[in-house]
Amino acid sequence: MKPAAVLSLLKRGSLSTASLRAVLIVLMLMMAALGARIQPITQLDQDFVADRFSWAPRKASGKFVFLAIDKLTLDKVGVWPWPRSIYAEALEKLSAADVGDIFIDVDFSTPSTPSEDERFADALDAAGGGVLLPIFRQAASAGSRQASLSKPIPELLAKAWPVFADVPVDRDGVVRRFYLGGDADGSPVPSAGAALSGVSTSYGSQLIDFSITPASVPTYPLIDLLSGKIGKGELAGRSIVLGASAVELKDIFSVPTHPALAGPLIHILTAETQLQDRELWEIDQTLLNLGLAAALVIAMLRFRAFGLMPTSLSMLCIGAGVEAIAFFLQSRHGILLGTAVPWSLLALAWVIALNERINIGETLAALANRNARNSRRMIKSIIADSSDGIVTFDADQKVSEISAKAASLLGIGIGDPMAAMSEPVLAQAVRQLLAKGGGKREDKNSITLEFASGEGAFFEAVLTIAYPEGEGHGQEPAFGGSIVIRDITERKLYEQKLKHLAETDALTGLLNRRTFLDRIGEHHRSLVLLDIERFSNICSTLGREAGDGLLKAVANRLRDTMPDRLIARIDGDLFALLVADEGKPSAEQADDLLQLFKDPLSIKGALTTISVRIGLADCNIVDAESTLRAAESALDVAKSSPVAWAAYDPQMSLRQARARRLELDLRNALRQDELFLLFQPQIDLASGTFLGAEALLRWKHPELGLVSPAEFIPIAETSGQIVDIGRWVVMRACMEAASWPSGTVSVNVSALQFAQPDLEGDILQALSASGLPASRLCVELTESAFIDDNASSIGKMQALRSAGISLALDDFGTGYSSMSYLADLPLDKLKIDQAFIRRLNRDRHVRQIVKAIISLGHDLALGIIAEGIEHEDEMETLRQFGCEAGQGYLFGKPQSAADLIHRDRPARASA
Ligand code: C2E
Ligand code: MG
Ligand code: MG
Repeated sequence: MKPAAVLSLLKRGSLSTASLRAVLIVLMLMMAALGARIQPITQLDQDFVADRFSWAPRKASGKFVFLAIDKLTLDKVGVWPWPRSIYAEALEKLSAADVGDIFIDVDFSTPSTPSEDERFADALDAAGGGVLLPIFRQAASAGSRQASLSKPIPELLAKAWPVFADVPVDRDGVVRRFYLGGDADGSPVPSAGAALSGVSTSYGSQLIDFSITPASVPTYPLIDLLSGKIGKGELAGRSIVLGASAVELKDIFSVPTHPALAGPLIHILTAETQLQDRELWEIDQTLLNLGLAAALVIAMLRFRAFGLMPTSLSMLCIGAGVEAIAFFLQSRHGILLGTAVPWSLLALAWVIALNERINIGETLAALANRNARNSRRMIKSIIADSSDGIVTFDADQKVSEISAKAASLLGIGIGDPMAAMSEPVLAQAVRQLLAKGGGKREDKNSITLEFASGEGAFFEAVLTIAYPEGEGHGQEPAFGGSIVIRDITERKLYEQKLKHLAETDALTGLLNRRTFLDRIGEHHRSLVLLDIERFSNICSTLGREAGDGLLKAVANRLRDTMPDRLIARIDGDLFALLVADEGKPSAEQADDLLQLFKDPLSIKGALTTISVRIGLADCNIVDAESTLRAAESALDVAKSSPVAWAAYDPQMSLRQARARRLELDLRNALRQDELFLLFQPQIDLASGTFLGAEALLRWKHPELGLVSPAEFIPIAETSGQIVDIGRWVVMRACMEAASWPSGTVSVNVSALQFAQPDLEGDILQALSASGLPASRLCVELTESAFIDDNASSIGKMQALRSAGISLALDDFGTGYSSMSYLADLPLDKLKIDQAFIRRLNRDRHVRQIVKAIISLGHDLALGIIAEGIEHEDEMETLRQFGCEAGQGYLFGKPQSAADLIHRDRPARASA
């Protein structure tokens, strides 16, 4: 069983006493059999062995003396490496002191000066050739595995005995054993220790007894020998080891009992180990350990009834006993016993004893449960205090925890079924989430949804169903679920506000253009555009604020009367609305809207009447943008229509295209001589004499042929080109008329042309250029010329009249014609519009009107001229009513000036 598995069993409280017992027994047996191979156990054993060495120290025999090349000696001699004569001198002194074996533990593998080497060789010779010099095994080169031998130079070696002086270092860097000897160049050579102690075996290794204290080895600084300070008796008969102890010389090793010991002392301890017969033994304890393990298991199970305390004490005693035996065997018999494994076995046995008495599995489980209970309590309080609404539920879909907020919002409490929630959308989402898993376990299923509740409150709910890890294989999956509900009302309201701002026109609160077009749907039949007439005039006279007020008032009226319709402000003073199919014809729709603005609007308390123009288009035109464009075309038409509205028809765009073309081409018409004048005679109705002629403009378009002034004059008026054209007409008409023997030329002057400040100058210039007397020029004006700016118009008219030019009011009886202003205007003639003449003899009322106009004109001292006389009876009636002049096809169509001069005037007059 893996440790992780045991842990997880413990967590769930399902590890019984018996199973834990089994686990522990297996562990004990494994420890007994393999423990000695586990590194930390071996280390412990070695530490115990070292401790035992120091608990039973031994004295050195005193047979070996260490002459140390120590710091003092190095300082006294003053150089390193030493001249070999110093060793020679030492040798001589030692020989004189009658010492036993001498081992000089110094590396002589490289030559010194020949005289020094010779001096030392001589000393070795003199010493009787029995001095031991060291040889070392060392790596042949850095990193190489092959060993090479480092030996004293031959001159020296020839006079001495070689001994191995290398020390084997264990893997942990500690020296514990020594070599007995080895092979050098094919012949057996003993180690220094072996040679000094006189052992004959030259192979293998043995453990050093570190209970022999290095401090008990007689040690002298070498300088004492050289300076003759050591008495003869102190050295006689003893073996000498001469070597380095100064740290600088780096012949230092770590041993079990000391962190640092000089190499020569290790050789001495080696020799002492041999001499004192302290051969140390390590034994294989596996069987012993297994026996101990078995005995302990049996004892633990047999003596279950024992209290834990006596059992623990017994175990401590056993441990102490084992330790005592180990100490005895090591100090007395050199047998090294590892006690780390027995201690581990005792510890495991103690756990078994504990398990037998308190069931560790259950205890740990209880602990784990307590933790779980604590966490649950914590979660409970987190849920209860949460500012979000939180509900958790179990696999039975019953509420397991619920926060106060969620309880009040959903109307459920702990133990209630989730289906009882007062928000059906949430209950539905729970079902959906469970169905989504389809019984298939997924780690986590989650849904986020938003819902509105109560009065204008919005919530976001995150539903999660989680399946606990690693359970429920093959069975109905167990799960837990939660719903976290957050109040997002503020965010929602903010979003709605942003949306509203993005969709509406800030000034009027109506939809804006983009949103309006987006919302055009299939059920909408027509798009209606509504434009306020003369809005820019209102703005420039009353100010921008008043303009804004007017737009708001219009928006309000539209919204108030049609609350269900989509209404937008498209741009400036342009409003749009969508009409669903109500079966009403366009005319009625338009009329309804026009009626809507019959009543004045209230702008800042002041009542203002406005008129509107309306363009309609069917919604089935390709797309929303095209529909809008179509309605705009219709509106353009409506602007010049007497009924103030127009519905789009495809012809309309053709006409508009033609109008745009004419406007472009008209720019070149004057320059390219495409314009010319025709003249229509005006006749004295009583006598039939020629009174003059009206100049009528014509345009011969190079491609479209003759274009009627009724078509191009309005275009020239809206584009402003009428000013230049009109100036040309006046000039041309005066030039022509100047060549006539008599008669007046009448020239039409547009409102825009009349409004020009230099109009008077232009006319006077035409007169003087042509030489035509002012009395032979008549200017025809329509009402529109003075409707906008009465005062300045009257001024201009007076100026023209005082120059001798006569003024006629053209098309009288149409438009706004009001009798009241006739009295104020400085006029000479009235031209009765041809529409009246057409119905003169068919309509009694018209007859009365014409009669009245003539009589009124005469009362105001105005001349009367009727235009559009086509038939004799019309002429007759007019003559009877006292109308003095006439113009019409009956007397002559508009014709060239040349034709006019040669016309047969008397013939017409007599007709
Ligand atoms: P208007 O000034 O009322 O001109 C009279 C129009 O009635 C002319 O149409 C003329 O040809 C037409 N007419 C005359 N007698 C008869 C008749 O017996 N029966 C019928 N059916 N029609 C008759 P025209 O030439 O097509 O001109 C149309 C309008 O264009 C003019 O109406 C005038 O307002 C404008 N116009 C013509 N020339 C000029 C011009 O040089 N300058 C300006 N500003 N407007 C001009
Ligand atoms: Mg006219
Ligand atoms: Mg006219």
